[in-house]
Amino acid sequence: MAKKVFRAESKRLLDLMVNSIYTHKEIFLRELISNASDALDKRYYISLSDESVSFDRGDFFISVTADKDARTLTVADTGVGMDKAELEKNLGTIAHSGSFNFKDENAPKDGVEIIGQFGVGFYSAFMVAESVTVRSRAFGSEESFEWHSSGSDGYTVAPCDMTEPGTQVILKLKADGDDEKYGEFLEEYRIRGIIKKYSDFIKYPIRLGDETLNSMVPIWRKNKNELTQEDYDRFYQDKRYGFEKPLKTVHMNVDGAVSYTALLYIPAAQPFDFYTREYEKGLELYTSGVLIMRKCADLLPDHFAFVQGLVDSADLSLNISRELLQHDRQLKLMAKRIAEKIKSELLSMLQNDRESYIKFFELFGRQLKYGVYADWGAHKDALQDLLMFRSSFEKKLVTLDEYVSRVKEDQKYIYYAAGQSAEALEKLPQAEAVADRGIEILYFTDEIDEFAVRVLMKYKDLEFKSVSDEDIGIDAAPGDDGDKDLFEAVAKELTGKIKEARASARLKTHPVCLASGGALSIGMEKTLNLIPGQEAPKAEKILEINRDHTVFQTLRETFKTDADRFARLSRVLYCQALLIEGLPLEDAAGYADDVCGLIGG
Ligand code: ADP
Repeated sequence: MAKKVFRAESKRLLDLMVNSIYTHKEIFLRELISNASDALDKRYYISLSDESVSFDRGDFFISVTADKDARTLTVADTGVGMDKAELEKNLGTIAHSGSFNFKDENAPKDGVEIIGQFGVGFYSAFMVAESVTVRSRAFGSEESFEWHSSGSDGYTVAPCDMTEPGTQVILKLKADGDDEKYGEFLEEYRIRGIIKKYSDFIKYPIRLGDETLNSMVPIWRKNKNELTQEDYDRFYQDKRYGFEKPLKTVHMNVDGAVSYTALLYIPAAQPFDFYTREYEKGLELYTSGVLIMRKCADLLPDHFAFVQGLVDSADLSLNISRELLQHDRQLKLMAKRIAEKIKSELLSMLQNDRESYIKFFELFGRQLKYGVYADWGAHKDALQDLLMFRSSFEKKLVTLDEYVSRVKEDQKYIYYAAGQSAEALEKLPQAEAVADRGIEILYFTDEIDEFAVRVLMKYKDLEFKSVSDEDIGIDAAPGDDGDKDLFEAVAKELTGKIKEARASARLKTHPVCLASGGALSIGMEKTLNLIPGQEAPKAEKILEINRDHTVFQTLRETFKTDADRFARLSRVLYCQALLIEGLPLEDAAGYADDVCGLIGG
């Protein structure tokens, strides 16, 4: 029989497995058992939704058999099984496995860590087996097939003779070497130990001979004081919520109108697709230990989309259709309580473990800020205490509460500056007058920041104020009305670009800056401009010129005497103000011309 070859990615992974020096080879058994359990789940679904299928719980089990003479270890299940096409698709190519996204940029250098932390399902069998045979009969089919492979040289598929649906995975263990003793996986004590360690919570019996090895109590149903953080971490990784150890684990038991248990995790890393549309939020939903929904989105508000975990309640009826479920009152109650719990856990992290909180905020803070802005501010009260911004005082993240607790006596606003980076904002001319008065400034470097505080409006009675606002609310030296004609002439030269030109009360060393009047700031205009396919509304721009700067003297000198030079100077000052804001020049060539003209003339 001709051998079929594995797809390229599969072959690479197989080589990696075969040659793995990974010390925890024992995890192959966990992987095979969890596949068996998934297959049983799938069969269970079918029997629930199809009344013509009779169903007996006793039919659902996993068995492990060791044959020392033949040197084989078999993991068998009575799950859905696979037909011929599925055998080829699922085992012939890893691209179909949901567990491992084998992209080049993610490819591990030597693979060891990835296998260690995660396991990669079925293929891990090749860490201990010289060949693997999978015999399977799909549920509802009369035929059965046998898949066989001794590693990366390919695989064969042929008919076989199974009488019941299910799957048998038969490993022919590698020969014992000097260091590696694969024969140990045939020893009962070893098998029992591995299963207790990794698969105890599997909800179907795992049998070795007549004995059932697992307690079948899922981790979240166990008593909290029986569990260690290590147990929670292992479950997190087994569940593939993430590779790393979670930042925070929350295990809650709620009794009330709806009783349920929730096991929630705050990840310590961003899922690779987190800030994309592809990311799917949600918690797993179980009723009495049986999974009924993989990602129940309604259990998590968008601003906590990063939370991973599950909810198990005996009070939800299993027959509830998924659509109905979405409108379920019980579900809403649970969601509300879960959101409150997450918030209180985050607050306590902020108070008691600031280092972890900052790590959290750097990963997911943006999501919280979107949360403030979203739904017309419906969640702003819930979220405002969780926000952090970089501060001009501390050069690190501070909370709004911290800012407010140290404002100056007569300070009326929470000041912020919005721009690309903290470094750029430190040099922003508009910030000078505020900073000079010893006032703390928050640096907004996420596009969402300014939008979020516009929704917040104030925090503890202090309104937010951009240092670029036309009125920054601090008494600057009152500008006299002199040079009125001159400013009008500048504005006229820049008609359509600015609303007004005026003497600046805030600039000290810099010659020029832009301020924004109206509701839309210049930064917000910039962000809205990034949205494709629409003409963004424009911010009202006010050009402020520093009358103490020497360039203003030149402006004054040319005002009545050299109209051309005056116009040039006006345009150049405007363009410089744009550049300081990080805004594009409408006519860069014209600007260059003007500058050269001024230098030359
Ligand atoms: P994963 O389980 O992460 O999807 P695997 O490589 O372990 O990746 O398995 C690939 C696929 O093969 C599974 O998604 C499943 O469809 C199928 N499969 C594996 N083991 C079994 C089994 N015991 N019964 C039925 N299908 C199985």
